[in-house]
Order: sequence, then structure tokens, then C-alpha cells
Amino acid sequence: MAGVSRAKVMPVARLSTFVESGAGASPCWNVFCIDNHIAFTPSLSVVGDLRLRIDRDDLRDLGGGTYWAPADLHDQDGQPWPVCPRRTLRRATERLAEEGFTARIGHEVEFTLFDALGPQEWSAYGVNAALRQDGFVRDLLDAATTAGLTVEQVHAEYGLNQFEISLGPADPVTAADNAVLARILVSRTARAHDLRASFAPLPVADAAGNGAHHHLSLHREDRPLFSGGDGPHGLTTPGARAVAGILAALPDFVLVLAGSALSHLRLQPNTWGGAYACWGLENREAAVRLCADTPGNPRGAHLEVKPIDASANPYLAGATILGAALAGIEGELPLPPEVAVNPAQLSEEERRAAGVALLPSLPADLLGRLRTSRLAGDVFEPLLLEALLAVKGYELSEYGRTPPAEVAERFRFAWTM
Ligand code: GLU
Ligand code: MG
Repeated sequence: MAGVSRAKVMPVARLSTFVESGAGASPCWNVFCIDNHIAFTPSLSVVGDLRLRIDRDDLRDLGGGTYWAPADLHDQDGQPWPVCPRRTLRRATERLAEEGFTARIGHEVEFTLFDALGPQEWSAYGVNAALRQDGFVRDLLDAATTAGLTVEQVHAEYGLNQFEISLGPADPVTAADNAVLARILVSRTARAHDLRASFAPLPVADAAGNGAHHHLSLHREDRPLFSGGDGPHGLTTPGARAVAGILAALPDFVLVLAGSALSHLRLQPNTWGGAYACWGLENREAAVRLCADTPGNPRGAHLEVKPIDASANPYLAGATILGAALAGIEGELPLPPEVAVNPAQLSEEERRAAGVALLPSLPADLLGRLRTSRLAGDVFEPLLLEALLAVKGYELSEYGRTPPAEVAERFRFAWTM
């Protein structure tokens, strides 16, 4: 729930145990917090036991005799456990499928390297920046090849020592697995180069933030929803409703998508983080950027959902976006007007007239909105919501008022593997 990946390790000779009965884990794993505090709830305590079960086909080669696989949480009888994030995303994908829609997601993975280069050696998106780290980049791409991870591009980002890798699109569960795998490979490769990778939403106070944007495409019977229609820029009717659904849901789901004690420091105007709940064609300041179908976009049209950061559990973030898109389609939500400029440049009055607002950032607001969201009750099991609210509630009350520089330093490597 804190976005931190956790694991059990077994010798390879016990692989069948991991696959069949699973490895043991306490239910209080579900309420481990960012700083290792345990936010016990009435239902999640020291009593009970769970099983982490993996699928043999999901094993990924990390090199050097180490393998990783994403696990599903089960109870001891082998029944799915309601707090399992992978199952939650699988259910959201199946619900879309029941209505005839298929989704593909590609994740962006942004990170900042520490103990790297000084500012004079770094230009945003610079050739100098990429070349100075070419050993790291080459080893990362080799590791991705060994692990079977499709990396579409790597670039030096805007911030000092900040990089991004863009992962190829896949079905939502595989895409989230890939996002976790990518963070493992980035973390390991960085260590091998005497570097440390931070995925923190704000790695250093006043520096560029790290996002974890999702690129989403939807299809019905092989026909794309975000192109080939009569709506703005070729949006189909259900495509426009899906955009509307995501925009309507975003304010209630900030706790899930960017809900760490650091996240609101990243989610600011003029950071390309999508702080304003609006949409626009290729608008990098809009929470939902429409990437239209053009010859320059060979995979076709898709949405880039920008507010998400790496403190979000990628499975729960995916489930949220899919659930919101489906709610928009089923509720026939009208598409709000497009915002074709940087919303930060509009006056307060112009923004009000256009119905454009910043996403909420106050802890009480984030917690209250998720707690009372009907859609959250649809997408998440009650026990999962209980765990999420306990973990985030603790984190925001404990660190919500800590000065930015201090909280950035404290949690700089919290999401590193
Ligand atoms: N670093 C920006 C963020 O925090 C995103 C930059 C981009 O890839 O557009 O979301
Ligand atoms: Mg980027």
C-alpha cells in the first residue's frame, strides 16, 4: 500500500513450493508503511497467514542465477486474498473485457541517479548527459534483454541526473509486472555502477520530480477507442466518455495515484506532472494528454495519464484508471472542453470558466475523497481500502507537515529495490 515492493526468496530447488503452496507472509504485510511502521487495523493484525504464489511462466532472469516473479496473494486454503493488488488489477481488466473492451498500458519509469555527475555536466535531454552514463545505460538495456523486458527508449530527463525509460505496451497486469521489473533492473544496474537510483516523487527539494505515467489505449473488437471517431481529434463516443471518466475520478484517487508524503511536492503546475485535472491534445501540463493517431505515432492513439508517481502501487493505479474509464463509458459522461494551452497561464477566472482545477493536495481531502468514493468501493475490496487508508493515513499524518527537504531526504530511496 506504500508502493514499496516486498519479497520472499527461495532456493531454486524449492520452486515448485513457491508455485504450488506458496511462501508464507503475515497479513500485516498489507499495512507495512513507508518507514516500516505497521498500521494495524481491526482486520489486519499479527494473527493469520497468507501465501505468495507465483506462476512458473512469469519467472524473469535477473542475471547471475537470480530470478524474479510477481506473486499473487492467497489465503492458506488457496483462495484469492482481497488485498492482492495483482488480483485487483486483473478484476478491473476482466470487467472491461465483460463490456467488450481491451486495454493496453505502457509505463514510463523515471528515476534520478545519485553520486553521479555535477550540474555542469548535465543538460536537460542532453547528449552529454546520456553519453556520460552510457555504461550504465548499456548495462541496463542488456539486463532488460536478459529479463525479457521491452524498453522502447531511454533518455536523460529534465532534472539533474534524471533518466526515463519507456516500456512497451502490454496487457495491464503484465505492464504493471514490467514496471516493477524495470525498477529492479534500474536499481541493480545503478548499484553495479556505484550509483543509487531514486524513484521518489521528489528526489531532492526543488529538483525535478519523478513521475510514473501510464500510457493507455483501449480497443473494442480490435477498433481503437481514441481514434477513428467523430469526436475531437478522432475520439470515438466511448473513447471520449473514457477520458471524461478518468478526469472525473482523478481528484478522488490522488491518494492511490500520487498519495505519498512527497507526492504533492511533485504535483505542481509547470512540472509536466499533470497537476491540473483537464485534457488536451499533446498537452504536457494536462493530467490526461491525448497522443493522437498520426504517422508520427505508429502505435496509434492513446492517453498519457500523468499525475501517477512511483509511490503508487502500479497495480492499484492501473485498476483505478481502468475502473474510471469504464465508469465514464457506462455513465455516458460528457467530455469536458479541451484545454489547448498551459492551464497555469490562464487566469484564475479563465480556469474557473473552463472548469479546470488543480488536483487536491491536502491530506484530509485525499483521505476523505477516497473513503467516500463510490467508484473506489467498486474497484477495491473493502479490506483493501481499509489497508490503503490505514497506511496512507499514517504516512500523511506522520510526515505531511515535515519540511520538504527533510522528507525528500528521508524517503529518497524508499522505492529503490
Ligand atoms: N518528470 C515529470 C513528472 O514528474 C514528467 C516529465 C515527462 O516525462 O513529461 O511527471
Ligand atoms: Mg519523462
